[in-house]
Amino acid sequence: MSTEHLVLDPATEEVVATVPAATPADVDAAVTRAGAAQRTWAAAAPADRARLLRRFAAVVDEHVEELARLEVREAGHTLGNARWEAGNVRDLLDYAAGGVERLNGRQIPVPGGLDVTILEPLGVIGVIAPWNFPMPIAAWGTAPALAAGNAVVLKPAEATPLTALRLAELALEAGLPGHLFQVLPGAGAVAGNALVEHPGVAKIVFTGSTRVGKAIMAKCADRVKRVTLELGGKSPNIVFADADIEAAAAATPMSFLDNSGQDCCARTRILVQRSAYDRFLELLAPAVEGVAVGDPSDERTQMGPLISRAQLDRVRSYVPDDAEGIRGKAPEGPGFWFPPTVLTGLAPDAPAAVEEVFGPVAVVLPFDDEADAVRLANATEYGLSGSIWTRDVGRALRVSGAVRAGNLSVNSHSSVRYWTPFGGYQQSGLGRELGPDALTAFTETKNVFISTEA
Ligand code: NAD
Repeated sequence: MSTEHLVLDPATEEVVATVPAATPADVDAAVTRAGAAQRTWAAAAPADRARLLRRFAAVVDEHVEELARLEVREAGHTLGNARWEAGNVRDLLDYAAGGVERLNGRQIPVPGGLDVTILEPLGVIGVIAPWNFPMPIAAWGTAPALAAGNAVVLKPAEATPLTALRLAELALEAGLPGHLFQVLPGAGAVAGNALVEHPGVAKIVFTGSTRVGKAIMAKCADRVKRVTLELGGKSPNIVFADADIEAAAAATPMSFLDNSGQDCCARTRILVQRSAYDRFLELLAPAVEGVAVGDPSDERTQMGPLISRAQLDRVRSYVPDDAEGIRGKAPEGPGFWFPPTVLTGLAPDAPAAVEEVFGPVAVVLPFDDEADAVRLANATEYGLSGSIWTRDVGRALRVSGAVRAGNLSVNSHSSVRYWTPFGGYQQSGLGRELGPDALTAFTETKNVFISTEA
């Protein structure tokens, strides 16, 4: 069992840091400490908890640039994206802090007494995060969990522990009680698994691959442990001929190239109505070829490297050298680079058209009419996101109703906003994060009846 992880800069392959890997004994000790911290935290006045979370948000705000530069180094994210990601942590903490004093139960009319529901914290929450959006995804679980009165033990992905570790330091600097928010880097099968199996962890919030998510859910079933799963996706970008084709084509490149395509919401199946197909591709080609790929710390860069050699090999396996389609440019030499790629002429059931590539690769498929578009959009075991481009409001609503996915956007490619619920249908996940109900997902509802007859 390895006791430390090397963190590499994906743009240069240089070693950025060496981080100790937590053992099951470390996880056990952290959960015990978290349990004690949680009881004190839950007993504190809501206004005080809210104030501390706001202070945490303010301290993150003071360190946005530092956190962003760290994310550029360990994850190869573009500087613009990384700044947004650090700002997202701040915003989530602020938003969750606003919920602490509004976490209301209900009073329900019943005969013979008064009935109230109380939303109690669950206890210690285990958050297991992936490497593709290390900071936001850590915060989606952590901020509402803390706000609802829980403690959090976060296990970041092996490749990207540095910003999570820094956030834990900033929490202490902001005055959050010790051990309330702990970060334990380590191997998924060791530290992650120890969190999943630990009887002192009340809920697992997992974001990652569908394969690991299913295994975690099965283990949680053993203890009826609560679990939220945010898994993979193969999201459609449906372009009808009546859409603003120029706008649809211009928005398409970054809908699957953002974060080098390592985005569970990436619109990697571009479905275009046959009568607009040629025109769309004509517009798409220069847009894809013009995407600036390179040094992620350069403000002009739109797309950086992939996270690792393993990811690069995986992405390559979907794209033969003689593949038909559009290819952008990528740097040569060290670093895990792959050019923006749009594949055409594939069968709808080709591996690149149905499997999650998790790289800068999309496929374009033609469709005939609305029913055909919906059939193709739903021809997947996933159901995370999707976009619908049309000027026909009725069609936008009909297709939004018919596509089985948790997050749809019309004439845009939006998926994640901290104000709105986020999560998947089918094998894209279970449960919802973010939005107005985020805190409730970290509570247990207790019903208390007080008799007026005694
Ligand atoms: P992964 O499943 O390999 O790892 C995710 C996390 O789980 C890591 O921290 C890893 O260490 C941990 N882990 C691995 N095996 C474990 C085990 N047996 N027990 C407990 N923890 C374990 O996925 P990844 O490669 O890090 O991330 C990429 C995947 O995540 C993609 O498939 C992507 O679609 C998905 N993802 C989904 C969302 C979403 O919100 N739906 C968001 C981001 C990423």
